[in-house]
Amino acid sequence: MAEENWKQKYLASLDKLEHQEKRWQATEALLKQGLTRVALAAEGQDGALDDDLALLRKILRKDVDLNQLEGVVNDLSQSVKRLDEARSEGAAVHSPQELLGHWLDSLSFPKSLNARIHALRKQIANTRSLEEMEAPLRELAQLINETLQHVDQKAPSGATGGGFFRRLFGSDEETKTATEQTSQDSIGKTTAPQISDFCIQLLDTLSLPAELNDEVESLKDKLGEGVSDYSVAPALTAIANLISAMRRQMEEENKELQSFLLQLGDNLKEIDQNLSGAQDSHKESLHHSRKLDAAVHAHVQDIQSTVDAAPESEALKQQIQSRLDAIRTHLDQFRETEETRQQQLEAQLAQLNNRVHGMESESEKLRRRLQEKHEQAVRDPLTGLYNRLAYDERIVQEFARWKRYGKSMVLMMIDVDHFKKVNDTYGHKAGDKALVLIADQLRNHLRESDFLARFGGEEFVVLMPETDLDAAVIAAEKLRSAVELCQFHYQNKQVDITVSAGLAQLRKEDSVESLFKRADEAMYRAKQAGRNRCLVEVSV
Ligand code: GH3
Ligand code: MG
Ligand code: MG
Repeated sequence: MAEENWKQKYLASLDKLEHQEKRWQATEALLKQGLTRVALAAEGQDGALDDDLALLRKILRKDVDLNQLEGVVNDLSQSVKRLDEARSEGAAVHSPQELLGHWLDSLSFPKSLNARIHALRKQIANTRSLEEMEAPLRELAQLINETLQHVDQKAPSGATGGGFFRRLFGSDEETKTATEQTSQDSIGKTTAPQISDFCIQLLDTLSLPAELNDEVESLKDKLGEGVSDYSVAPALTAIANLISAMRRQMEEENKELQSFLLQLGDNLKEIDQNLSGAQDSHKESLHHSRKLDAAVHAHVQDIQSTVDAAPESEALKQQIQSRLDAIRTHLDQFRETEETRQQQLEAQLAQLNNRVHGMESESEKLRRRLQEKHEQAVRDPLTGLYNRLAYDERIVQEFARWKRYGKSMVLMMIDVDHFKKVNDTYGHKAGDKALVLIADQLRNHLRESDFLARFGGEEFVVLMPETDLDAAVIAAEKLRSAVELCQFHYQNKQVDITVSAGLAQLRKEDSVESLFKRADEAMYRAKQAGRNRCLVEVSV
């Protein structure tokens, strides 16, 4: 029967709905658990923040009311913002920035490095997050290396035995910078800074994620055994590498969360469809129930009229009359309870619908925020090009694609010629401007399908998929001459800028590293051969 059919359909859709609701509740429970953990982890930073976090946990223990949740999340954002501002004003205890800045102030570098030290100090002061510490640490390592070379050149024989720091702090007036004096007021009072202590302290304040604990601990152990002059720079580089590992890991987590949210979005859409299906069959059921009710009433009415018209015995009429009254009363009662039940169901469905929509828009917002964060993480702030993190990601993808389709691919390394001289002659700012201009030239003279990134410092990489060496050399020459002809001016002076490039084509037996090594070697040969040229790898 038709009525039986719709009833079955209705019951089946209720079952489905119940199943979906369970899944939804499980998801909600997971999110709640996650939020509660985050709230616990963030506790103890600030009084106002703690209050907000406590409220958040309280709300999460009950059924989540989206309005209330939104309120407390807004308060939380405000507290975190206040905390950030307080930190950047220096209200907080030693931050990694302060620590590094103080330590830098306490060292004496050769005068020729003054401009770079000045730029580095500014860069350190401007770092807002742990991720941004990586570049200053690498530059500091580079500066220390250069100072050591300088010191060695000045005192080539046995005199270096006394150590870098003795020289840095020593009586050699020529190597002193003006900053040393000011440093005496800060933590530079210690005459010989314990570099290993400083590095350990820096590692502690950086608070790297727990997953890197083993590496952090083994680095600390090594530092604990003492650091010689020549292992200062490698120690700083090792810390920078840890930060880089953390960034990579954060990117991975970001991606996982994004795909989780995409999946969640799909699930929510499915729930949404089932909900509207349930609402439709609920309406249909209401309609049928009303029809049935009307039909029975009509039948009762008919019987009533027939009985009224029949001249039979009064006693029988009375009896039938009372039966009919009873049927009517039952029908009315049934209709009343049915209507209330339907209304409740309708309200529940509407509420569920609202919550699903709320979740949908929340997860979409979160997904967009993660996407933006990802964009920031893979961009170099100075030139706007992709950074090394992006290159690491892309080379793996291109490698996999090449394995599948076997089309040829070329890697090009580009390094600015004598860039140190540009910095030394015109200053660090001029160097930065030159890098931006070079980046523009490279970007404007490449194809859409080529991938360009600033690999670090004054080095760039280009990945050219579906390109062979002959075609890549033509492209490289175009880039080289574009940079040579770009006419860079700084304070009305023309500054000549050139680049050297090395190219290597992917081979069957290659790994990401071996390909990179060949391109790098080719670039090195281009430097040796007189710079301002592009060379390809040595053929097999
Ligand atoms: P070569 O031709 O052999 O490549 O000589 P070079 O001077 O370019 O090479 P080197 O690697 O000795 O020096 C690179 C310089 O680039 C040193 C470093 O201070 C500078 N540099 C790296 N990153 C930046 C940056 O972001 N801004 C500025 N202004 N200079 C940078
Ligand atoms: Mg270089
Ligand atoms: Mg260079």
